[in-house]
Amino acid sequence: MSRPVLLVTGGSRGIGAAICGMAAQRGYDVAVNYQSAAEAAAKVVAACEAEGAKAVALQGDMARQEDIARVFTEAKAALGPLTHVVNNAGITGPGSKLAEADPQTIRTCIDVNVTGAILVAREATRALLANPDAKGRAIVNISSIAAGLGSPDEFVWYAASKGAIDSLTLGMAKELAPAGIRVNAVAPGMTETEIHALSSGEPGRVARIAPTIPIKRAAQPEEIAEVVLFALSEAASYVVGSILRVGGGR
Ligand code: NAP
Repeated sequence: MSRPVLLVTGGSRGIGAAICGMAAQRGYDVAVNYQSAAEAAAKVVAACEAEGAKAVALQGDMARQEDIARVFTEAKAALGPLTHVVNNAGITGPGSKLAEADPQTIRTCIDVNVTGAILVAREATRALLANPDAKGRAIVNISSIAAGLGSPDEFVWYAASKGAIDSLTLGMAKELAPAGIRVNAVAPGMTETEIHALSSGEPGRVARIAPTIPIKRAAQPEEIAEVVLFALSEAASYVVGSILRVGGGR
């Protein structure tokens, strides 16, 4: 039987890297997209290969249509027709109150998290529709509990970008379910990754917010990956158009 083939955008670090590793352990071949962290992506590929999976690292800016189309073409060429996609690449930009935010921070965030994610969703839809005989085809969009919190005083634009992901997920799910493709979103709460230090510019953000989370800690990336792998799998065969919140009670 042929192995499922998964593309993860932003698979080089954080939640995306955890999804790639766990997918390889569970029998997927994995295309690991990254923007600039080539060394980190190569490590993720090596970890996937150590699990017996075929894996490939594919550079591409998921805010750019030319790169998105090329990455999907290269993934198919390296691993065969795609059966699963995780639309994960995302950024926040430096945090601030909305009134003080640089307009370019907002534009860049929306370019990656909304325009880019919708273009990735479009390409994923085309790729999976072109593979009609594959079993269990599924797409997971990575949202955030920020969509429901609004992230006042630090990331209102980011929260709004993830609200768009929730709407995207509902529409895609209804459009694609008749073709046998399941679409869901996973909405992580605060997760220990480099997004806080590198993208938001606040290395101490996890320590500042963790005490306010009912479970009193941030998630590890693997705790998010576990739910993504569930949503991709046949164990979730009747889960369609769901926003699976993984927020530690927040
Ligand atoms: P992260 O540790 O900062 O990793 C981000 C990943 O996305 C990296 O692999 C990065 O690749 C890639 N990336 C960023 N911009 C890209 C672009 N334009 N094109 C291609 N790849 C790009 O972030 P994370 O915390 O794992 O976040 C992953 C997803 O979860 C995001 O959608 C984020 O919004 C969401 N999320 C995170 C949290 C959290 O607390 N961490 C909570 C809720 C939701 P390079 O390193 O190669 O540039």
